[in-house]
Amino acid sequence: MNPIAFDNSYARLPERFYAHQAPEPVAAPGPIRVNQALAAVLGIDLVWLNSAAGTAVVAGNATPPGADPIATVYAGHQFGGFNPQLGDGRAILLGEVVARDGQRYDLQLKGSGPTPWSRGGDGRSPLGPVLREYLVSEAMYHLGVPTTRALAAVTTGDVVARDRFLPGAVLARVASSHIRIGTFQYYAARKDREALQLLADHVIERHYPEAGNRDNPVLALLEGVISRQARLIAQWQLLGFIHGVMNTDNMLVCGETIDYGPCAFMDAFNPEQVYSSIDHGGRYAYRSQPGIAHWNLSCLAQALLPILDGDPDRAVAQAQKAIDAFPEQFLQANAQGMARKLGLAEIGEQDTALVEDLWQLMAQHQLDFTLAFRRLADLAHERDEAGSCVSALFEFPDALHPWLDHWRARIAQDALPGDMRQAMMDRANPVFIPRNHLVEAAIAAATDGDDFAVFHRLMDVLESPHTYRADLALFATPPQPEQIVRQTFCGT
Ligand code: AMP
Ligand code: MG
Repeated sequence: MNPIAFDNSYARLPERFYAHQAPEPVAAPGPIRVNQALAAVLGIDLVWLNSAAGTAVVAGNATPPGADPIATVYAGHQFGGFNPQLGDGRAILLGEVVARDGQRYDLQLKGSGPTPWSRGGDGRSPLGPVLREYLVSEAMYHLGVPTTRALAAVTTGDVVARDRFLPGAVLARVASSHIRIGTFQYYAARKDREALQLLADHVIERHYPEAGNRDNPVLALLEGVISRQARLIAQWQLLGFIHGVMNTDNMLVCGETIDYGPCAFMDAFNPEQVYSSIDHGGRYAYRSQPGIAHWNLSCLAQALLPILDGDPDRAVAQAQKAIDAFPEQFLQANAQGMARKLGLAEIGEQDTALVEDLWQLMAQHQLDFTLAFRRLADLAHERDEAGSCVSALFEFPDALHPWLDHWRARIAQDALPGDMRQAMMDRANPVFIPRNHLVEAAIAAATDGDDFAVFHRLMDVLESPHTYRADLALFATPPQPEQIVRQTFCGT
């Protein structure tokens, strides 16, 4: 039996969607980590994946039966400017797997050598970005955020040349698909109406089957992407997650988070926060993310115009209406999430000041985003024995006491039973996030000291982000001043 049951629907699209491209072998593949639970979902034989044969496939040194390796082409707006020709420059899609849950998933290697779209790059990845993507994407999954995932990571035994020589690695990435807003933009820019329609049909069948039954399936597809993105961005905002490079080629139409390059979770709350070293104007700052998503979705709408309606005016009117729904959908998802974070059945008009005041106080006092909300979960349950609450790590300053009184009074009027509130707040207010200084420490230990224990330990903790344990306090503690990470970099 084949170790992976491939069925490659994207490779059945016409040849102008991709290039056949085998991964380039590496010197000495070495296993780093295998995601056992994800492998099980995908029906991939675990013994095989953990063996030298599995490691060789992840490294790109062997092509498993049934794979049809391709690099895909796309376009995209990068920092607002349109680039009509991008593509997988350091990634190769091995194929698709229909999983135990009936869902179809892409299996892609990242860092597996050059492709026609490498644009001067080497198609390789240093170890650091691979570990970073593994940690942060899997943390997002365990936090309940739709995301691409990490199936396995391997070292290559080769060095890659960046500002210094670094050990190379490959990540096996899993996504519902890697089809981006920029994939549609590529064909729209070439006025290839036929390809647009084929791509839309493919995406509808794969991600929005219910849209296929609507009067205008393409409009339903657009509406579907908008509503998934509205909910996704609300989840980012509610966790203090900053994506860092929200170009249209980094937004998937399936609604999963992709591209864990310069991303970061905020420590101290600052709505203007930017980490990315290349984001000079702060285009992708925390507070700008909903607006940028809205803008990106309008690029998708624009790309779909030729197949939205035979009448151009009607097409524009329909697209505009769909796009105009985004802000309200985002605000609604955000308010629902905020209700869960604050322990309320729902947030109404009368709660506007409560919510606004909290954000303002958090910014003014630079409160730790994660611990401030987690401490609310403690306080709502009067959970105060040191082993199960974060009081030893974080306490609200006196200036917050009037706000806390206001919040307690509001909770006292709320209909939710106490045990439900507790479960809801714990789930909405995680205690363990992939803090930047911990991620950097894991990368440094592996890159400079060949020590992967720090990475494994951190990943193990991030698999249970909602349950506090005092013996894991270091993983919940904000950085010391000298540990603060101020800049992050694209994962090239
Ligand atoms: P990203 O930063 O992943 O959004 O990449 C932007 C573009 O640059 C994509 O088309 C990538 O495929 C390409 N690219 C990034 N890193 C490399 C690399 N090491 N080798 C070749 N192409 C790359
Ligand atoms: Mg990208």
